[in-house]
Amino acid sequence: MQAVFSLHLSGGELNHGEKRAIKIILNEKIFDATLTSVNFDREKYPGHRDIWQIVYSQNSAIADSIRKIFSYSLKNFSENLPPSEEEYFVLYATDTKDIFYFEPIFKREIITPERDELSLENLFELPTLTDSEAAIVEKYRLTKIRKLNRSIGNYLKKLYNFRCQICGQNIGANYGVNVVECHHINYFVDSLNNDAENLLIVCPNHHRIIHAANPIFDRDKKFYRYPNGYEESLLLNLHL
Ligand SMILES: [Zn+2]
Ligand SMILES: [Zn+2]
Repeated sequence: MQAVFSLHLSGGELNHGEKRAIKIILNEKIFDATLTSVNFDREKYPGHRDIWQIVYSQNSAIADSIRKIFSYSLKNFSENLPPSEEEYFVLYATDTKDIFYFEPIFKREIITPERDELSLENLFELPTLTDSEAAIVEKYRLTKIRKLNRSIGNYLKKLYNFRCQICGQNIGANYGVNVVECHHINYFVDSLNNDAENLLIVCPNHHRIIHAANPIFDRDKKFYRYPNGYEESLLLNLHL
């Protein structure tokens, strides 16, 4: 995730302990904020990765805006929120360096139990909103997520040169098209996780097979284990 983020920062990746001024667009307003690489004791925690935070003052306009958006969960802070009321921020890059787009997302808006995960993912891939019935029905729920998916997913597709991470093939190459797809390792409807660490770049065949067979992904050894016992490891892996 930090590698993806770094591409959109002037000056590239933050050094340990470094701060960088960024601008955030939230609800169509532009706010100043600071991106900080937390300065923890590296000798004490040699195995820890860098931690990046976005820092803003308690009395700032952006803090005010965030309090308004998350008023429900702040009010109910001490109680356990029901899953349908969980709230998150998604953050995605823009075409301009150092400017990031912040968007609140509410789990109740995107729970789609009647829709299977593969067709949900296919909706993410649509380049624009289309007039198909499904896209109209899902438009409200998916607009936010699709934008995010396109930024991170497109970066990963380029990283793998439009090849499938499982079979290594770019099956569209002979035809002059890119048909590679993004798969959410932990299904998006359950995890709401669209970070790079939850995305796998796969060809359409492997994508269909994964959703049809429901294999288990072993994160340590980087392979899929299918219910019939078959195991298939990743041929290409640069980001997991
Ligand atoms: Zn494949
Ligand atoms: Zn998928």
